Order: sequence, then C-alpha cells, then structure tokens
Amino acid sequence: MTSTVDPAAAPTAGPTATTGPTPATGPTPATGPTPATGPATTVAVGEGTAAAQPHTYLCATTVEEAVAAMAAGARPVAGGTDLVVGARHGKAPLPASLVGIHRLAELAGIGPLSTLGGGTEGLRLGALATHAEIAAHPAVRARWTGLADASAIVGSPATRANGTLGGNVMNASPAMDTGAPLLCHDALAVLHGPRQVRRVPLDELWTRPGGLSAAPDELLVAVELPEPVGGAGVTTGSAYVRLQYRRQMEIAVVGAAAVVTLAAGEVVRARIAITALAPTVRRTPTAEAALVGTDGGPAAVRAAARLAAEAARPISDVRGSATYRRAMAAVVARRALVTAITRAAGGDVPVPASDTTFGS
Ligand SMILES: Cc1cc2nc3c(=O)[nH]c(=O)nc-3n(C[C@H](O)[C@H](O)[C@H](O)COP(=O)(O)OP(=O)(O)OC[C@H]3O[C@@H](n4cnc5c(N)ncnc54)[C@H](O)[C@@H]3O)c2cc1C
Repeated sequence: MTSTVDPAAAPTAGPTATTGPTPATGPTPATGPTPATGPATTVAVGEGTAAAQPHTYLCATTVEEAVAAMAAGARPVAGGTDLVVGARHGKAPLPASLVGIHRLAELAGIGPLSTLGGGTEGLRLGALATHAEIAAHPAVRARWTGLADASAIVGSPATRANGTLGGNVMNASPAMDTGAPLLCHDALAVLHGPRQVRRVPLDELWTRPGGLSAAPDELLVAVELPEPVGGAGVTTGSAYVRLQYRRQMEIAVVGAAAVVTLAAGEVVRARIAITALAPTVRRTPTAEAALVGTDGGPAAVRAAARLAAEAARPISDVRGSATYRRAMAAVVARRALVTAITRAAGGDVPVPASDTTFGS
C-alpha cells in the first residue's frame, strides 16, 4: 500500500502564534546542560494575536515543574532544532506556551544502567544527550554501534551539538535517524507524567508521523538500552546505514538498521528496521525471521534485505519516487546487515557506517 504522508513532516500540534520565544540556549555540547541555579521563572514574551494567549516561556528547574507546565499546556523544548527551527521555516507555528527543559540535570548524561527490567544491565541515555555526545561515547560506539552510526550523521556539527535524543524520539518523524537503531536495540522510553513514571517500547510510542502514544504531559526523561546479547561464543554487531544525496544536512531518503547475533557461525537473533519508508519507523519481522538459522552469508542477507524492502510503504516526493525508494531499501538493508554481521564477527567498520558503505 502506498502511504500519502510525508516522512519528513514535523508535528503540527500547538496553538497558532505569530511570534514566539526563542530559548536562549540549548544543551551545551561539551559540558551538557547547565545545572539549575535558581528558581524557575515564567516570562511573558509577547502579546500574541487577538485570538491567542500571550506567549509564555518557563525555564524549568525540576522535572516536576516541567511536567506541571506541560499539564497546563506548555510544550517542552530541548535543543530547539526541530521545534524552533521548524517554526522559523514556517513548518508549524511555535506553541503559545513553552517550557525549557535544557537545565534539568536528571535528563542529562549517558551512563550504565543496572535496573532495567528487574536487573538486566545496559545503558541509560538521558533525554538531553546530544547526538554529538552519543556518537562520541565509547560504550555506544563499542556495543550499540548502530546508534552511534545514526547520531554521527544527524544534520551538521551544529545540529548534533544542540539536537537531543529526546527531541529526535519525541518529534516522531518517520525519517528520524536514531529511530531504527533504537528499535533494533530494544530501547525503552522512560516517560515521567504527573502521577507515574512508565517505560514504553518505542514501537508502541510512535503512532503516525509526528504522533505519539504519550500524553501531552509526559516528559521523556531517558531512553534505556539493554545490553546486547553476548556470552561464550555469542557475539552481536549492529549498524545503521542511510541513503543520502549529500553527507551533511540531509534527511534520510531511505535508512536501515540491523542488529545481528552470531553463535558458532549461525545467525541466532536478528533485528532489522527501516527508516523513511512507512508512516513510522518499523521493524520488519519477516526479514528478521528469514535471517535466523542461516549462515549470514550473501544469499541469506540478500533474501532478508528483499523481504525488508517488501515490508516498506514508501511515498513519492522530491527526494525520490516510491519505486526508487523500495529498490534502494533492499540495497540499504543489505549494507546494514553486512556491516552488522561483519562487526559481530569482529571486523572493524568505522562509524558512521554510511560513509564506509556508500563511500565518502
Ligand atoms: C538543519 C537540520 C538538520 C537536521 N538533520 C537531521 C538528520 O539528519 N536526522 C534526524 O533524525 N534529524 C535531523 N534534524 C532534526 C533535529 O535536529 C533532531 O530531531 C533533534 O534530535 C531534535 O532534538 P531537539 O532537542 O532540538 O528537539 P526540540 O526541537 O527541542 O523538540 C522536538 C520535539 O520534541 C519534543 N520534546 C523534546 N524533548 C522532549 C522530552 N524530553 N520529552 C517530551 N517531549 C520532548 C518537543 O516538544 C518537540 O515537539 C535536523 C534539524 C535541522 C534544523
């Protein structure tokens, strides 16, 4: 079936406004968000239109304060590279009420996790972790390499320095680069609402382009990643590859992520997801099932990649026709699988894999 939605479309929610506030700063790349030093302040930023409320901007100093502001109708803003840049480009007006979350220390940082799912170990990525921080993080590069591949190619150095993982996840674009590797790495979104904190698998979080199952007053505080499958003679490798017409400031025409586990020369577990080929980023279970039990060689990989492409629901737009996208989906999925299998077998494919597999 052909979808009629634009994978690059940004969410359009929010009241109409003619002007709006610009958060003074986003997360600082080298040092992370600035810790709060004083009480939160609400600033009336303009009169708005006759129909709209005056614009307000609150710089939250606690998670509870941010959630309360969201419950009262404010939209959170982290790096602002989707929300503010989109408004400036006329994609969607800025909401009349914004809450800055960039100073929330609880949302910062990347570190080990030992409480996931009753004791499983893994990694906790704070919602404010920037793409630059993720791409440079030694544990991400070593064990969740597909995510490093994705974060390393988001936008430009300026986008990566300010754009956050939380903003990428909650913007819910089907063309988001971190989505496919996060799905394949079995990530959980940690949502903090007024009454509870809950963990949601990402394929239950994204419902349509720009659409979330999260309530408007649920703040994403972190993304949790379980440790990749491993053990004696068992190894896992991952990769994310994107077809791009240029190396910076590009939106994925097609993207694919793969996480593959090998044991005794056989594929024992596989995760494959595609980007920009359906209303939301999605795994392709038929392709995954086809790969398990094979030797992960060229014929098996080609067959699985073809199944991944068949699961796509591409659109035609200025970046490519649906026919071209589907054809390229098989190519991109094959390259992601080959890279993941190479890494699982101990081979060194530098981050980002897109540069290696498509040439620089
Ligand atoms: C020039 C340019 C190039 C880009 N290139 C790419 C690219 O190659 N690949 C790609 O995937 N993206 C790209 N983007 C999009 C954007 O940079 C990323 O999606 C980025 O990760 C957004 O993070 P942010 O902190 O700036 O989000 P913001 O703009 O602050 O927020 C985005 C949305 O998420 C919500 N939000 C933010 N944080 C939270 C939270 N913790 N809890 C709940 N809701 C939250 C906001 O309310 C808003 O709706 C590009 C953007 C620009 C301007």
